[in-house]
Amino acid sequence: MKYTVNEKGFYGKFGGAYIPEMLYPNVEELRTNYLSIIYEPEFQLEFSKLLKDYVGRPTPLYLAHRLSEKYNTRIYLKREDLCHTGAHKINNTIGQILLAKRLGKNKIIAETGAGQHGVATATVCALMGMECTVYMGQLDIERQRPNVERMRILGAQVVPARSGNMTLKDATNEAMRHWINNPSDTHYIIGSVVGPHPYPDMVTRFQSVISEEIKAQLQQAEGNPYPDHVIACVGGGSNAAGAFYHFLEDEHVNLVGAEAAGKGVNSGESAATTALGKTGVLHGSKTLLMQTEDGQVVEPYSISAGLDYPGIGPLHAHLFDTQRVQFLSATDDEAMEAGIELSRTEGIIPAIESAHAIAVLNQLKPDPDDVVVINLSGRGDKDLETYIRWGKY
Ligand SMILES: *Cc1c(COP(=O)(O)O)cnc(C)c1O
Repeated sequence: MKYTVNEKGFYGKFGGAYIPEMLYPNVEELRTNYLSIIYEPEFQLEFSKLLKDYVGRPTPLYLAHRLSEKYNTRIYLKREDLCHTGAHKINNTIGQILLAKRLGKNKIIAETGAGQHGVATATVCALMGMECTVYMGQLDIERQRPNVERMRILGAQVVPARSGNMTLKDATNEAMRHWINNPSDTHYIIGSVVGPHPYPDMVTRFQSVISEEIKAQLQQAEGNPYPDHVIACVGGGSNAAGAFYHFLEDEHVNLVGAEAAGKGVNSGESAATTALGKTGVLHGSKTLLMQTEDGQVVEPYSISAGLDYPGIGPLHAHLFDTQRVQFLSATDDEAMEAGIELSRTEGIIPAIESAHAIAVLNQLKPDPDDVVVINLSGRGDKDLETYIRWGKY
């Protein structure tokens, strides 16, 4: 198992738990309990029942006829856009809230940038009757009004972070501080495969339902569970980790991560971490991140809020390092064009994050008899404003 985490929480050179000492008891409680809890038969039963009845799983694996014709290959879309709340993020928040319950926690905190993870967290807190506090940068609160109001409607308290740039990093710091001060009754739900061990592994396992379903659905549709390519966009990397997980050891399956090149990889306004990043510590783990010569985190940029992150999770850093995953990138314009293309060919308006995964088809150039699975991580409703501002349709 070359790509699973070791007992110290490392994937090759990457991972671990680089956290302040004050946070150690909280993270240690999770680390020593997460595997035994999530593999209890009763947990598995409750998790899969909620995924089915509440989230709407299994999500369809749809053979996109017209898109396939256009690229002269066989393209399936894994429809995470049809999940409740509009994206894959809910798979993880359902898993973590069930875990929190079993650890005896009755309060949940989270941080959010664009608000998507905040909404997925507020949703499961309402579902379970738990108190929910979401930290969000003041600037993001102003930019993401609809998601802020969604969280409030769902009963969550949205707390502005007013330090630093007043964005995601500052919200993360505030959430960490809250957790240090409330270790016994509070669980911190992290929204991607980032953060200190065991979060990257735990979130990967919750999202791995995506590739589990893809395998079964391809077996049904093609008589073979293995596609030739799996493509997924990478922000922190949770939808990609879920879509890749059950194919990691099958080296004949080509795995492709699509990053956001923003205005161009070398434009100074980009979020293409594998192209630009170096090893460093971000949000409690050793990973690849965009940084200056003296180690300051570089402010990332992408038109898509979910990919606007200065690093990638440690699993992806390892998959890049070992060349198990091929990383490509798409610019803002390429992603927007791909979003319109999917809308016009298949009648599906994708999240702009997911449109990056469509956009790299041009570079991948699959063969006519290849089976390509694209993980459609979310739907485009939340991005309507961005589509309108871009305007070229
Ligand atoms: C948040 C988000 C992403 C990016 O997060 P990952 O952890 O990289 O998956 C991608 N797509 C959608 C629709 C999102 O909401």
